[in-house]
Amino acid sequence: MTDGFLTSDTTDTTWIKPLGTNWKEVTYTAVDGLAVFEGCIILGTVAEAQTTKKTVEDNPGILQDDAQALGAGIRGVQFRWKNNTIPFEIDPNLPNQQRVLDAIKHWQDNTPIKFVKRNAADPAHRDFVVFRPGSGCASSVGRRGGRQEVILGSACSTGNCIHEIGHTVGLWHEQSRKDRNQFVTVKLDAVLPSARHNFNQHIQDGVDLLAYDYGSIMHYPRNAFSANGEDTIIPKKAGVEIGQRKKLSAGDIASVKKLVTI
Ligand SMILES: [Zn+2]
Repeated sequence: MTDGFLTSDTTDTTWIKPLGTNWKEVTYTAVDGLAVFEGCIILGTVAEAQTTKKTVEDNPGILQDDAQALGAGIRGVQFRWKNNTIPFEIDPNLPNQQRVLDAIKHWQDNTPIKFVKRNAADPAHRDFVVFRPGSGCASSVGRRGGRQEVILGSACSTGNCIHEIGHTVGLWHEQSRKDRNQFVTVKLDAVLPSARHNFNQHIQDGVDLLAYDYGSIMHYPRNAFSANGEDTIIPKKAGVEIGQRKKLSAGDIASVKKLVTI
């Protein structure tokens, strides 16, 4: 599958609360017990997603509350990393660990985000990320509280890892913006029927106030979830490339600098 997306035919809905926005209902795919959104975003375990859904259904007033005041008890909430610093571990079984170190260096060289090796005895490292092997490339979005993961299959490159760290830092997918239909055309007919929900939703956060960025490392490639190899997402502007997995774009870097102030 292009870009190492995690897929299955089992879907359900839950609720998430991106940074600085209201709660939003989303459709996810269940893959190996994880609730996966848009192919590479881990919302949590399926059990957590179900608990969040039930909590919201039983307490609809939660949707109006200040979720920060509710603490980390609700797993759909996204937080910023304290001091822009991400404590991390690398699973000893992860092949080619250099791709992680190279991706971390790229982030540190270009953004205010810093990484430190986790010291389990340090209370400031209670929330941390583990880079571990898996069948595709995936990450949670933002700080979730406690242990969270970046999954890197053997085919995931340094560029894929830079993309997944973008999620860990707090970025969503560029083509999910509310205004994306002004900039790209989605060809749902060419998308695998079981994957069409991956194009349905719109995550708007404060970072989206910046210009739509075709060159973002957080943008889907042209053939994302294609059923037949045909393009599924086509830029309306001639001559632009989408889906690069080489480096953070100038727009990505500007978005991160804005994100850390939200
Ligand atoms: Zn992604």
